[in-house]
Amino acid sequence: MKVVRTQAAIREALHSVKMQGRTVGFVATMGALHEGHLALVRAARRSTDVVVMSIFVNPLQFGPSEDFGSYPRPEETDLRAAQEQGVDVVFAPSLDEMYGAEMSTTVSAGGLARMVEGAERPGHFDGVCTVVAKLFNLVHPDRAFFGQKDAQQVAVIRRMVSDLSFPVEVEVVPIVREPDGLAMSSRNAYLSPEERTRATALYAALREGEALVRRGASVEAVEDRMLEVMGAVQGVEPGYARAVDPDTFETPGGGPVLLAVAARVGPARLIDNLLVEPSGVGE
Ligand code: AMP
Repeated sequence: MKVVRTQAAIREALHSVKMQGRTVGFVATMGALHEGHLALVRAARRSTDVVVMSIFVNPLQFGPSEDFGSYPRPEETDLRAAQEQGVDVVFAPSLDEMYGAEMSTTVSAGGLARMVEGAERPGHFDGVCTVVAKLFNLVHPDRAFFGQKDAQQVAVIRRMVSDLSFPVEVEVVPIVREPDGLAMSSRNAYLSPEERTRATALYAALREGEALVRRGASVEAVEDRMLEVMGAVQGVEPGYARAVDPDTFETPGGGPVLLAVAARVGPARLIDNLLVEPSGVGE
């Protein structure tokens, strides 16, 4: 496994791969790798010849009062995990290497980026799109793999790829959960054992919401119930609970319904979601 840290080095590492006509799969991460990230790597391994992973904590997607400074950065452990999963090239640039002093052009992700999660984190998806656009331009992947865990990120990136004509296929990998349902997240590391138990309230709310959707309940009833389930657990502060169309994040229109929740548990702000297909096939 090669580890490269400069824009020149990642371009050079992939030049010969491209010349040989081998396909490149790309997994963008902020590190602190867990089974969710590794599921993306395995999906990339299955369908592309060369797997590239980026590890970069992107300041543009953090708000001023968010956890950019304290976000975990266990690089050595991450590199070992990446190697074990068969990643071929890791791109781990410094902040300066990625943005430098001159950075002034950014991607504006439009209306979709201001819905649901974007409404609580102004500028977040613009920051995500800017870094992903830059990474796509450096890596030129044939396929890029993203987790359903960040459902709105998937929708926003699909729009960007279509709107800006990036020659890349976006593949989505299902959410990897702990045995008790908690979605894996780098931010779970912030939780004490007690908070870790409370955090299962998010998935419990989604499952209740799913049952209501299947029984034909109104959007309002589903959202209220999910808020209630999260709010009933001491130490869980619900942020939002929404039932939306998975592509537009507007009111669902008879197709699949995406249930999306956010809550603060101790020091961590957690998100989770569940896609409810009208056919009755779950996430
Ligand atoms: P992050 O390092 O949090 O930026 O995540 C990098 C990628 O891993 C994103 O595409 C995430 O959606 C994906 N990811 C994070 N957690 C999970 C999970 N529990 N299951 C599946 N994918 C995940």
